[in-house]
Amino acid sequence: MLGLMQVRPLLISNLIHFAERHHGEAEIVSRRVEGDIHRCTWVDVARRARCVANALDADKLAFSDRVATLAWNGYRHLELFYGVSGSGRVLHTINPRLHPDQIAWIINHAEDQVLAFDTNFLPLVQAVHTQCPTVKKWVALADADKLPQDTGIPNLVSYEAWIAGQADTYDWPEFDENSASSMCYTSGTTGNPKGVLYSHRSTTLHALAATLPDAMNLSARESVLPVVPMFHVSAWGLPYSAALAGCKLVFPGPAQDGKSIHGLIEAEKVTFAAGVPTVWQMLLAHTQGNGLKFSTLKRTMIGGSACPPAMINAFRDQYGVDVLHAWGMTETSPLGTLCMLKEKHLSLETEAQLAIRLKQGRALSGLDMKIVDTDGKELPWDGETYGDLLVKGPWVIKAYFKSEGGDPLVDGWFPTGDVATIDADGFMQITDRSKDLIKSGGEWISSIDIENIAVAHPAVAIAACISAHHPKWEERPIIAVVKKPGAEVTREELLAFYEGKTAKWQIPDDVVFMESIPIGATGKILKMRLREQLADYRLTTTEA
Ligand code: AMP
Repeated sequence: MLGLMQVRPLLISNLIHFAERHHGEAEIVSRRVEGDIHRCTWVDVARRARCVANALDADKLAFSDRVATLAWNGYRHLELFYGVSGSGRVLHTINPRLHPDQIAWIINHAEDQVLAFDTNFLPLVQAVHTQCPTVKKWVALADADKLPQDTGIPNLVSYEAWIAGQADTYDWPEFDENSASSMCYTSGTTGNPKGVLYSHRSTTLHALAATLPDAMNLSARESVLPVVPMFHVSAWGLPYSAALAGCKLVFPGPAQDGKSIHGLIEAEKVTFAAGVPTVWQMLLAHTQGNGLKFSTLKRTMIGGSACPPAMINAFRDQYGVDVLHAWGMTETSPLGTLCMLKEKHLSLETEAQLAIRLKQGRALSGLDMKIVDTDGKELPWDGETYGDLLVKGPWVIKAYFKSEGGDPLVDGWFPTGDVATIDADGFMQITDRSKDLIKSGGEWISSIDIENIAVAHPAVAIAACISAHHPKWEERPIIAVVKKPGAEVTREELLAFYEGKTAKWQIPDDVVFMESIPIGATGKILKMRLREQLADYRLTTTEA
């Protein structure tokens, strides 16, 4: 017997429809690429999202066609989030920090039809557009009179001109909630970036779970600042959760420095802000250096990399701001766990409570997790035994786009590439990473790519890339090198060899020349052993 309740597919258009009707007056405030502050409301976003949908119809984009963005957090990007997915197309947010060759590769792999970009990414678009034959329209996110001229890009229009002639009425279509809604490529895997394809259902369920009190605890009384970019897994889903809860949204645009972020938090009475540790490092340096306070900020959600204890303490002791430590992945939409304390932790001494707060936290309601040993046997939740972390749930990946890399699941569970403990209360803590990658300022660097470039140098016999602690970027790559017999190369020559072969920020910070590098029985470099050998190594940096 089936239940007798209404069947309404879980579509992203429902979220914007709800925000418009029930929280229409809540503001969307954006610092634009132009530098000024733009203000609108959920009503305006919904209206213009419908214009976007009509513009895509006029451009004859089919159901599931991809529309890409190279854009910072802002109201136009938000309109695309809803206009593109709501009308049945797939929003593809691209990380502009990748190397142009990688961006071109991703655009071609996704077969993007339209690409919308912030005007400060014009040089990037100029560098890649000739390599992207699927893109039939390039949309500059700008007013009609600010359209860059003489760019050499054919079929370039301004966003405002593109949507200007379009009706602001549109009947959001109803279709299967399992249809694809958006996609994001992750370079947090080996080999080429892989596409993660979210559905309307996965996005809606993730937004609901993320908004719950023991997760982000969002309500219509919050002013929310996603500093985490919308090209990093949809700013952790905040554009969706904020619509669902009716929050005010504050977008920082490209200005991520401490002064700009603090100014925005104060001016817009931000109560909840989300970002990676590097951004909060810059914010704290600014507030501490200038004797500033936060008048309204109550909570900061920190994830993407492990949150340092000093950061949790500084926010709490100096500013009365609670840190909400979170873990997730592109493959998990992204939220997997959040560190919201249980009742029994509230009476703990400061140090004991900090030990809990440093953990990545409890599973979001609806997600399951486990740790296993090398044979796949489940390990106990004792807070000490560590093993490979696996997750499953309705917003966890089933397969990569175009089945790249084959079936990623193990008995229905997704192996995260993280190594963790789980305690008796269900609090997970990351202790290591089994994937051979480095995360610098929230962005991935493939150690394999860095090694491949080094071994292409005629003087290099063996190269192994590992991470070194950095006060600002958390991790930075360094490369250990064994020279070929009789060959010579200096640190400076080897670092110069990287120029043009990878994005500038991915170039290692240092070279360590060694007599030998530990190699295992199967010929693999033993990174654990190498890390032990270089345990005393310290990166010398002048950066704060
Ligand atoms: P991404 O797919 O780029 O979002 O990266 C996901 C990966 O970032 C995870 O598998 C972890 O390795 C790492 N990560 C995310 N959040 C945290 C955290 N709070 N602590 C430690 N590592 C994290």
